[in-house]
Amino acid sequence: MQTVSGSELSHSTARAVRGSVFFLTDDPGIEPDPLDYYEFYDDGILVLGDDGHILDAGDYNQIVAKYRLSVSEITDFRGRFILPGFIDTHIHYPQAEIIAAYGEQLVHWLEKYAYPAESRYADIVYARTVSRFFLSELLRNGVTTALIFGSAHKASIDALFTEADKLNLRIIAGKVMMDRNAPDNLLDTPETAKADNEALIAAWHKKNRIQYAITPRFAITSSTEQLSIAGQLYHAHDDLYLQTHVAENLNEISLAKKLYPTAKSYLHVYANFGLVGPRSIFAHGIHLTEDEFDLLAEKKAALSFCPTSNLFLGSGLFNFNKVHQKNILLGLGSDVGAGTSFSMFQTMNEAYKVVQLHQTINQQSGNKALLTPFKAFYLATLGAARALYLDNKLGSFLPGKEGDFIVLNPEATPILKFRMLNTQSLAERLFVLMMLADDRSIESVYIMGRRWHEGNI
Ligand SMILES: [Zn+2]
Repeated sequence: MQTVSGSELSHSTARAVRGSVFFLTDDPGIEPDPLDYYEFYDDGILVLGDDGHILDAGDYNQIVAKYRLSVSEITDFRGRFILPGFIDTHIHYPQAEIIAAYGEQLVHWLEKYAYPAESRYADIVYARTVSRFFLSELLRNGVTTALIFGSAHKASIDALFTEADKLNLRIIAGKVMMDRNAPDNLLDTPETAKADNEALIAAWHKKNRIQYAITPRFAITSSTEQLSIAGQLYHAHDDLYLQTHVAENLNEISLAKKLYPTAKSYLHVYANFGLVGPRSIFAHGIHLTEDEFDLLAEKKAALSFCPTSNLFLGSGLFNFNKVHQKNILLGLGSDVGAGTSFSMFQTMNEAYKVVQLHQTINQQSGNKALLTPFKAFYLATLGAARALYLDNKLGSFLPGKEGDFIVLNPEATPILKFRMLNTQSLAERLFVLMMLADDRSIESVYIMGRRWHEGNI
């Protein structure tokens, strides 16, 4: 890698930003225009405290009078949207270099592309170089928080957290645990995985804005001994996360059943080790049974819906309707590198199409659950924060939340500008953004009230 993007934050915290302020206050469900579930101020303002937390958000004239703000204290983004930063609930940073790798489905894709790429992350210098690129790429796309897989190497996570901490990012990540069915140079053992996890938790968990996730890749690459240790670790520390994959691909499911023949289902493999509960996030869940959906709802565990990955690997179509009916915690995931975009707009775009196609194929009658624009933006902000049990900190602009936000240009490309001329409602404008916007619409990104600057290092 010859040149890599680096980045830094400005030194001072913004006092107030003016623009079209929009955020969800609750789950809008599938109502096309759910007035009671969001706040929108066409001429709005967001006010920040000295520590970078949100003080207030609302109508420009009212708020300016309330806080006696002077013009010099206000950064003017009129004509732009101001939203909470996006949250990506599933992504692999050591796979950024193999995004868009041709022709395989899950198990062979891992063997042919992902495992060789991940084997390079034993080298902490390389891992830090890619970490800088990866975090810049998230931020360029307006993603201010993510739940991230490292590689099997402890160094991969030390490197990622070191770079994230410099930017004061709220990220959650973990070292991948794998002790079988993968190349030798990526395998740990139950004992080394335990020691590495404990060292990483001691060094990083709850340091500034960083949190740790126990990260068995999936049941196929972890023995019973290792999943047992994962369960012990998950319960031994406050506010730890558990992230893994479930029911993504039909071959993967039959392999998991062969390896764990007595488990009632794939998800029950994890549940049997105490791995299904609050702050556990399962990527994909495309082929879950009724029992498995019920278990997720009962345990208040979350799913990550990764449409670009699911389409790219031909894995299947996520059952959004079922997840909506069962009120299961849900966020969106890019799943880079099997996913094909870091952009949450592109992720929303493909999620909408997956929901459409799932309905057509399954001929569902009545109770049609389309992915509305309000719901899509909810899933990328407050819904994801709830899935991660971080909604007391992130996802909206209520007072006291952390000041991670983005400034969106709704007219960043010729087609966006042209199409926006022909919109009448907020719902329409949001839907156009969700279908047509990309990183070009992300004009500014703020982390705890400080503006992020991209640069070369
Ligand atoms: Zn994944």
